[in-house]
Amino acid sequence: MKSLSAQRAITPWQRALSMVRARLDEVLPWGSGRRSLWAALIALVLAVLVTLVWLAGRYEASQVQAELERDATDAVNDLRGGFSRHVQSLQALQAAHLTPDSWQPEASTLLRNNRDWVRIEWRDKNNQLQSFADSPFRTPAFERIGRAEVVNEALQTCQRAKRFNGPAYSSTYFLPQSNGLGFEVMELCLPVTQIGELVGYTVVTFSLQEVLNERLVASFGRRNELSFIEPDGTRLAIAGTQRRERRIFTAQQLLDLPGNTLLLRMDGRRGEPDLFPNVLTALVTGMSIALITVMILLAKDSRRRLKAERDLADALAFRKAMEDSLVTGLRARDLKGHITYVNPAFCQMVGWEAEALIGKNAPMPYWPPEMVDEYQQRQAIRLAGNAPPREGFESVFMRQDGTRFPVLIIEAPLISVQGEQTGWMGAVIDISEQRRIEELSRASQERLQATARLATVGEMASLLSHELNQPLAAIASYANGSLNLLKDPQAETQTLSDVHMALRRIAEQAGRAGRVINSVHDFVRRREQAREAVAPQALLEAIAPLVNLQARKLQVRVHTRVEPRLPAVWCDRTMVEQVLLNLARNGMQAMDRPDIEDRVLILHARPAASKAENAWVEFAVTDVGTGIEPDVEVQLFNPFFTTKAEGMGLGLSLCRTVVEQHGGHLLFEAHAPKGTVFRFTLPAEASGKSASSP
Ligand code: ADP
Repeated sequence: MKSLSAQRAITPWQRALSMVRARLDEVLPWGSGRRSLWAALIALVLAVLVTLVWLAGRYEASQVQAELERDATDAVNDLRGGFSRHVQSLQALQAAHLTPDSWQPEASTLLRNNRDWVRIEWRDKNNQLQSFADSPFRTPAFERIGRAEVVNEALQTCQRAKRFNGPAYSSTYFLPQSNGLGFEVMELCLPVTQIGELVGYTVVTFSLQEVLNERLVASFGRRNELSFIEPDGTRLAIAGTQRRERRIFTAQQLLDLPGNTLLLRMDGRRGEPDLFPNVLTALVTGMSIALITVMILLAKDSRRRLKAERDLADALAFRKAMEDSLVTGLRARDLKGHITYVNPAFCQMVGWEAEALIGKNAPMPYWPPEMVDEYQQRQAIRLAGNAPPREGFESVFMRQDGTRFPVLIIEAPLISVQGEQTGWMGAVIDISEQRRIEELSRASQERLQATARLATVGEMASLLSHELNQPLAAIASYANGSLNLLKDPQAETQTLSDVHMALRRIAEQAGRAGRVINSVHDFVRRREQAREAVAPQALLEAIAPLVNLQARKLQVRVHTRVEPRLPAVWCDRTMVEQVLLNLARNGMQAMDRPDIEDRVLILHARPAASKAENAWVEFAVTDVGTGIEPDVEVQLFNPFFTTKAEGMGLGLSLCRTVVEQHGGHLLFEAHAPKGTVFRFTLPAEASGKSASSP
């Protein structure tokens, strides 16, 4: 249970630190590998993206190509239909059995209806021209070159038609025109039969250019370039849009005609398929771009995170170094009083490991057992939300080896980032060295004072001896002289007057010695004028700092009790303070032994029981020390009697003198079960004043 809570309490610091360290260990040696992984990922995504776009483009192109192929097939079918309709209208013309004159208008009508026809000829079965008609839409085609020059094609075609007994088409040939231009033509020869017998031929000359214009441009020419070509690629006629786009899709279809085969070429001049040719590709591209963006953001984020982690690790390391090098002990407690954190300085101070302290609650292992109650009360007050004094408070802690040492604790609420109080943070300063120095200076001061007092006493003694020496020597010599005189039996009268004189001198010198003594007494009595009314509480408070100082050093608890409604006492304040201080110090020194654990000194002021009510106040100083042995008891008040190596043995005798000068008594008795009580009485203000007034 303990180790669990300790673990829990360690985590905020240690977990963060070890996490960051582990993370850095993980990241730093693998930095380059990680970079190449990122590069590979980016390359892969780019490759997928490019492939997808390329495939989509190809798909689009194949779609365009297929559409073009379909169009070419449709165009060839249209042409085929057109040519068979030509044959039908020619057959209708032949069936009318017309004369060459009546043939003319019929033929002209046909020419008007078919713009691609250049000329119709009626030839007899020997191929002699019977009649002909030229297209009304152009100048007669055979104007520049006479028909006779190019009739061979027609003749050969008709031979073929005769053989097929049906329509036959010639191969194409160029027909120059009088304007310097010319065009490709093709001829159709349809044999005319009457009752199964060949009677002639109808020959139609087509302009290939016009065939394209008439039959295909309307349906297919808007988006394509149409042309008839020869197998070697030579263009015979060309029509349709001729947009200058970058990419050309081409479809070729054969048009099989009896006697001739034409090659129709359709060039779809389309732009390069767009980057986003269709929704699918657009979607894929969009998603890929989004993916790349996310990847870039992730990479940035991870870089930022790495930097933040490194900064955090640095900051933590800095803080740890700072805490470790602090000489001030730091201790954090949660709101229930459990220790959540201690720094190395604190551990060093109290001699306990951090693990042994973290998670602990009152009573703490570093509390001296005799102070546990007091400290527990203090902690309860603190946990109830009362802030301690800003300047801190003094306390006593105990090391693991049991030694006590004074500390100054400055405690403040621990506020979280959210602004809530999560506990208390305390800075603990070991002030034993400071106390030692204070104690040293106090002791040396006291020694100085004692020496000064001793010097005064010595001075007084030498003064007295000097002053008294003369009268006493005179007294002695007069007394001796008198004795000698009384021994001489002869000179009686003279002797008697001499003895008389000597006795007078003795009386005189004794009187002088008495005056010297009186003047010293007067000097002592003069201090009576310094008397004043002082509240007992004030007397005890005045000595408290000095008493506490020594009490801390000797690990003594001091209890002060003043009964209520106690009258003020009439006294020489300085002297009475000196008495109290002496008694308290003696009591504490009597408890300074290793076998005495619970060291308590009680300073008590109450009305004196034996005297008249409210007239006297009794002060009692109680210790639980060694007590007083009978052989010590008899010499206790003797000046210069002491059992201490550094003692002067003047304390108690001075105390008694001072108390008795005030009219009181100084007594002592054993305290059950152990220790001693020193009591003394002082007059209350009213009775003291009247007693001292003349
Ligand atoms: P000093 O303190 O300089 O020794 P004091 O006159 O004050 O001189 O005391 C004389 C002796 O009386 C001390 O040395 C000590 O042995 C004894 N004494 C005084 N007070 C106590 C006490 N409270 N308990 C036991 N012994 C005491």
